[in-house]
Amino acid sequence: NKFVEVKKLRKVYDNGHEAIKNVSFSVKKGDLVCLLGPSGCGKTTILNMIAGLLNPSSGEILFGGKSVVEVAPKDRQIGYVFQNYALYPHMTVLQNVMFPLIVGKNKKAKADAQKIAEKYMSLTQITELAEQKPGNLSGGQQQRVAIARALVQEPQILLMDEPLSNLDARLRLKIREEIRALVKTVGITTLFVTHDQEEALSIGDKIILFNDGVIQQDDLGENFYLD
Ligand code: ADP
Ligand code: ADP
Repeated sequence: NKFVEVKKLRKVYDNGHEAIKNVSFSVKKGDLVCLLGPSGCGKTTILNMIAGLLNPSSGEILFGGKSVVEVAPKDRQIGYVFQNYALYPHMTVLQNVMFPLIVGKNKKAKADAQKIAEKYMSLTQITELAEQKPGNLSGGQQQRVAIARALVQEPQILLMDEPLSNLDARLRLKIREEIRALVKTVGITTLFVTHDQEEALSIGDKIILFNDGVIQQDDLGENFYLD
């Protein structure tokens, strides 16, 4: 039941900086795993390699026992929520959420795409915002749009990079519980990047603590200890 496996992963950037040094871990199907660590420790680098946006210098990433290099990026079934949400400013909320379904090789008829988009907009509680443009939305609302857009393709893995960092403290507490409830409802395997210990402890089934490109601790939430 190791759904995602990362084996002896290493990343040296073109400028010679070794951002990831011999990192190995695994993620069980359906788990919400937090990658925790200070800014600059390599969390985004790992997500980008898992997403296929960046090539490892060495090591291996497996999905369901299959090396990702054997799976074309478009077939990897990964949803990615970026730190800045990366919504399309000229499109409405509905158009943003539908977008992954109406482009590319496996595109759907518009009516079908809209139906699926509406399902995930309902789950993320943004139905009433359908005709708004992202510029008119609060940070928390934009974040929900980004999550709905990541989920419409019904990916097997959801990657979230500091998804709460643009929100105020009170909203962070509320939305992190909603994210946990949502990913458990959908049943999607999730990697959630954060620098906030308390946040990781409150929502992670498992927490992997990084520092300077290496894993310092990898434990179930209830076993995780703090120095
Ligand atoms: P985190 O997500 O934990 O903040 P990153 O993965 O973004 O960390 O970065 C890890 C380290 O690699 C940092 O020291 C960062 O400056 C460096 N880094 C990130 N991207 C590049 C790049 N493209 N080229 C060189 N160094 C990079
Ligand atoms: P890959 O080998 O997988 O193509 P690269 O090492 O080329 O990855 O880095 C990806 C991109 O990040 C490059 O286009 C590079 O220009 C950019 N980059 C370089 N240095 C940094 C840095 N310190 N922080 C963020 N991005 C950087």
